[in-house]
Amino acid sequence: VSEIFELACELVGIPSVSREEGRLADRVEELLASSPHLTVRRIGDNVVARTDLGRDRRVIVAGHLDTVSSGAQGARIEDGTLWGLGAADMKGTLAVMITLAGQLDSPTFDATWIFYAREEIARSESGLLEIELADPTLLEGDVAILGEPTDAAVEAGCQGTLRLEVLLGGIPAHTARPFMGLNAAHRLAPLLSAIVAASPRTVTIDGVTFAEQCEVVGVHGGSGGNVVPAEVTLVVNHRFAPDRTPEAAIAWLRGVIDPHLDAARDHVEVIDVAPGALPSLEDPVLGRLVALSARPVSAKVGWTDVATFAGRGIPAANFGAGDPLLAHHPEERVSEESLLAVASTLRDLLTEPSPA
Ligand SMILES: [Zn+2]
Repeated sequence: VSEIFELACELVGIPSVSREEGRLADRVEELLASSPHLTVRRIGDNVVARTDLGRDRRVIVAGHLDTVSSGAQGARIEDGTLWGLGAADMKGTLAVMITLAGQLDSPTFDATWIFYAREEIARSESGLLEIELADPTLLEGDVAILGEPTDAAVEAGCQGTLRLEVLLGGIPAHTARPFMGLNAAHRLAPLLSAIVAASPRTVTIDGVTFAEQCEVVGVHGGSGGNVVPAEVTLVVNHRFAPDRTPEAAIAWLRGVIDPHLDAARDHVEVIDVAPGALPSLEDPVLGRLVALSARPVSAKVGWTDVATFAGRGIPAANFGAGDPLLAHHPEERVSEESLLAVASTLRDLLTEPSPA
């Protein structure tokens, strides 16, 4: 069994649900501290290790320490596969990062290895923001690779995400005399039909295809078994391609919803919105990453911190071990083969002569 696989097993064995990453951060810090070519900084439950060799370009490799509770159990190895909570998302790739950070004492590019807390909760809680507050220079670089599970293929860019709440108003009345009121729940019917029938786009950018989505994720309302509801709220989640700004995505969704609203009674509020990230495959390092992975590149389904780096002007892509479909799944697992593929691709990327 390889050193990386053993380390991945050890990391899965250290529980680290969001906000409880301290023990795992301690272990990561300890493992990195023994490498004299790295400057290691601990900020809260985040760890950043950097080389400072004066290279032309700096490559950031980042991964989150936290897991979500999914019902997956502790670490177990069976036939070259590591099972357990966080195996794919993303302690396997953390093991690759720690191992390479220690081994690559003279990479072609300067390297920044970022291990951060609280990725799985809300954007506002991310350890990346804590690092930025403490020392924004630690997030500086020319290109970033996020180790989210991608099955050792590059998943470029990411979708934007928007959550919008619609409050429909009515007039309460006794259900025996509904004509005395206005049923806010019945007013949902045309609105829901419009959302179900809406056709979000499928967009190809830089050769990768983003499929937009639009889903109702919450419906709340009603005040009693014999009362015509005076208020109903509907929450809609729209995943949009990165060629659209948040403003344009909001405008598209409002175009679907607004014809069914009554300006005097109803209210629309954006609960949260995060921009996507363009694929940036013209970046020479990301282009080389695709070539070295020897796998077809695709668009990232979902939102990742690729967008955080893109928002800071740093081209970024997702590349890590494990099947993305098994993230947050009780059957979560990662194969040794996938870990070694990611390790060898990243090692080649960071050690081969610079393409420039
Ligand atoms: Zn993840």
